[in-house]
Amino acid sequence: MKFRLIYPRWKKLDRQTEFHLPPHGPVVFAATLPADWEVEFIDENVEPLPADAAADFVGVSMMLTSQMKRGWEIADHYRRRGIKVICGGIGTMLHAEETGLHADSVFLGEAEGRMEQVFDDWRNNRLKPVYDYFQNHPPTEIIGDARRSILKRDLYNYKGIQMVDLVHASRGCRFNCYPCCVSYLGGRQFRPRPVEKVIAEMAGIDNNRLFVVDNSLAQDRQWEIDLFRAMVPLKKKWCCHPIEEDDEVLDWAAQAGAWYVYQAIFDTSDRIRNRVRRYHDHGIAVEGTVLLGLDSHTEDDIKRLIDFLLEIELDLAEFTVLTPFPHTRTFTEFEREGRILTKDWNAYTADQVIFRPRHMSPGRLQEMYAYAWETFYRDEPQSYKMFKLFKRVMEREKTDGTFRPRRRDLIVSRFGRERADGSAEER
Ligand code: SF4
Repeated sequence: MKFRLIYPRWKKLDRQTEFHLPPHGPVVFAATLPADWEVEFIDENVEPLPADAAADFVGVSMMLTSQMKRGWEIADHYRRRGIKVICGGIGTMLHAEETGLHADSVFLGEAEGRMEQVFDDWRNNRLKPVYDYFQNHPPTEIIGDARRSILKRDLYNYKGIQMVDLVHASRGCRFNCYPCCVSYLGGRQFRPRPVEKVIAEMAGIDNNRLFVVDNSLAQDRQWEIDLFRAMVPLKKKWCCHPIEEDDEVLDWAAQAGAWYVYQAIFDTSDRIRNRVRRYHDHGIAVEGTVLLGLDSHTEDDIKRLIDFLLEIELDLAEFTVLTPFPHTRTFTEFEREGRILTKDWNAYTADQVIFRPRHMSPGRLQEMYAYAWETFYRDEPQSYKMFKLFKRVMEREKTDGTFRPRRRDLIVSRFGRERADGSAEER
């Protein structure tokens, strides 16, 4: 029996260098499928969807709001051919009801320990319209290694340079930052995987460079230290979302190969300045994830913010505009205030202004978005800043003997993150 697992394409962030990371959600999901099924994975972002319908059962995995409409088209396509379709992923969780109009079955939640039953139901023609495991999480002990063997690895490169491999050490997040939807998706409970299982998975990945995609590593100080200490012998180089602002934790992170972090930057406070400085002091670079158009932002604030990013010598910056993704406080508030301009999910790419900002017109915020990219990268273009980051990791690899001189290097961007909401971390 053959299961075709499809990851629909979406429009990439305007002005961001386009490249593709191997997706994480589908390979984690694939690890939960019954062993007797053949799995064919199609990532529409890097290859065309085959015209044939050569599958017994189809799965559509969706992470982003801007992926949803394409995913529904794909589901309709297979169902018209009499093939049953199941949809899942965090995008599906944010758009569950609409997805139910296009799929035979909607899977909500985490798949570990649950797919044998689903496939048994398919075999007996009693697939349920909804498998609802929302907030009903399997124990993290049963999370296995992601099934990366389904990836066509040659497709994930940038000008012949291989991308990072994605891996996760925990699920959930104990914070509830504005305007993030993670608390809606996973509750506010931090759920670490057993460190020894994470280390075994990392060790088995044939790539020296990783992206640890956890929502935020800054959840539990001792857990972070234990994890980083155990990572030291692997000599991997990795990027991640925020790390605890604590010298001992940062020191262990650096020893474990922390390469750079994605850090949300909302304002020009000393708190941000000091945080970036502390990362830099430990040899960890910082890519700012900078959200424009908050209700507190005036035009002058945005201009000051860009000057500040240059002043604190941020290594890279990724600018997005505030987007009211479903099931976020932003959506609820803007909906109540009548400020949402469209619910065409294809426009929810985080580079288009689809709401009425508080202090300027939508058109002016769109111009400020362009201003931010242009001003930050005026003196040193994005490609050059990325090159500098990349060169730094190669130098470290040469020092510790892990450099592999082949066309296997990488450049990464926050844009490949396993996030449904496009928002940025506060911690
Ligand atoms: S923005 Fe990051 S740290 Fe904040 S709630 Fe969301 S996932 Fe957690």
